[in-house]
Amino acid sequence: MTTPQEPSYRLETRLVHEGNQRTPFGETSEALFLTQGFIYESAESAERRFLNEEAGYSYSRYSNPTVDAFEQRIAGLEGAEAARATASGMAAVTAAMVGQVQAGDHVVAARALFGSCRWVVEDFLPRFGVGCTLVDGADLNQWRNAVRPETKAFLLETPTNPSLEIFDIAAIAEIAHAAGATLTVDNVFATPLFQKPLALGADCVVYSATKHIDGQGRCLGGVILGSTEFIENKVQQFLRMTGPSISPFNAWVLLKGLETLPLRVEKQTTTAGFLADMLHDHPKLRRLTYPGRPDHPQADLIRRQMSGASTMIALDVQGGKEGAFRFLNALKLIRISNNLGDAKSLVTHPATTTHQRFTPEQRAEMGITDGLVRLSVGLEHKDDLLEDLAQALESA
Ligand SMILES: *Cc1c(COP(=O)(O)O)cnc(C)c1O
Repeated sequence: MTTPQEPSYRLETRLVHEGNQRTPFGETSEALFLTQGFIYESAESAERRFLNEEAGYSYSRYSNPTVDAFEQRIAGLEGAEAARATASGMAAVTAAMVGQVQAGDHVVAARALFGSCRWVVEDFLPRFGVGCTLVDGADLNQWRNAVRPETKAFLLETPTNPSLEIFDIAAIAEIAHAAGATLTVDNVFATPLFQKPLALGADCVVYSATKHIDGQGRCLGGVILGSTEFIENKVQQFLRMTGPSISPFNAWVLLKGLETLPLRVEKQTTTAGFLADMLHDHPKLRRLTYPGRPDHPQADLIRRQMSGASTMIALDVQGGKEGAFRFLNALKLIRISNNLGDAKSLVTHPATTTHQRFTPEQRAEMGITDGLVRLSVGLEHKDDLLEDLAQALESA
């Protein structure tokens, strides 16, 4: 299917138009092809379609026009040759990693990973004879020293969830390539607007589209992006045969979400920067970490690697778990939830929820203290958010 737009259009324009396959009805909004399968004009046509000699759709586990439109639009945004959408972010991460390895291979991953991603590499892959070494992602020597002859893939996430630490994508991609391995980057926290891992040397980018791409808390989804060669050789067959397919309905919601992604993420980031500046000296906070502040420990790397900051703030509340719980329970507008990137501002206490299964020592290694609260800044008015945070910190 061809896209009518010229590639010279600017980002915001392409996010509204790219990938649209208008039907003969001339609908304004993208059509939703909520169908499992497709019919063939003749038995011969069905045969040709299965032989891959005729273009067209056959079954929505393989491909679907609405899903294709979403994939084209996000590939354009990322600057990737190819994209495949999946049922969730975890389906994307799992397919990207499983598709690259076989028994006897080895992966290296940063220790500070989203909990389920860490389970995939640390617990799941080893069941099938794939070794895994976890490293401190900020220490380039640890990446180098973890490499073995059988190392095939690196995985990292930056900024990290929830401590907002930054890893050097270009330097780590170089180490991976020198070892004959690939680098996969989970780019959820940066969003496709603020960080381009492929341009920095990564081979694969994965998203939970559940987060900023939907941005309004409605559906789960995921995306895997890379070169055509990477997608076709590493992940395509796995996705088609094992079936973590996205519903065309969810793909349609996410496709429409891309139209407003820059508006939302830029607004949420501006508000997050305002809140971080207003609160960073607050006496009830041991520490406030925000990638847009000059006091972020890796401010230089952020300037080199990212074109914007973040919709997320990490707050270390005085008084450990009790202090953090008093703060969370005193919030009136901002709600407790483990989602992020939403229009609604949300807070999470990672030590007792998303990172509960880790030992206190493991949490310390990932920078997760008992007082740590992860704040996802939404689209509310900045002063309402500031007032809510300030009154709740008084209770902490
Ligand atoms: C949410 C998230 C995931 C998993 O995505 P789902 O859509 O919930 O499956 C993976 N990585 C990061 C960084 C996330 O925030």
